[in-house]
Amino acid sequence: MNCPKCQGLMKQTGFEGIVVEQCSSCLGIWFDEFELERLKALPGSEVIDSGDADLGAKYNPVDRIFCPHDHTPLTRMVDVRQPHIWYESCAVCHGAFLDAGEFTDYKHETIGDLFRRIGLKARD
Ligand SMILES: [Zn+2]
Ligand SMILES: [Zn+2]
Repeated sequence: MNCPKCQGLMKQTGFEGIVVEQCSSCLGIWFDEFELERLKALPGSEVIDSGDADLGAKYNPVDRIFCPHDHTPLTRMVDVRQPHIWYESCAVCHGAFLDAGEFTDYKHETIGDLFRRIGLKARD
């Protein structure tokens, strides 16, 4: 399987028996259906997100990408509770691609978002 974003080689990684694919080049992670939610609920699972968030931010604007399984154009999703997080999801197999650093961010919604909300209010 090749990375939907940069065509790099995807390698298997995982946590507590849940296997996901991580790109060896941009370090983004592909989650099959339910894996994202299951991993989010497991304490310590952010160790799989070994990529640098700065690297992920470089790839974040790349949004014309296709599902590595069924080649469906991926839909950009915005997390309702964390609107700064954009990720790509497949409408057919319900897999999702998160850039490096995004899964860690996605897991830590309370603290990070509290700070961001305060930051947004300060600018208003
Ligand atoms: Zn990649
Ligand atoms: Zn798909």
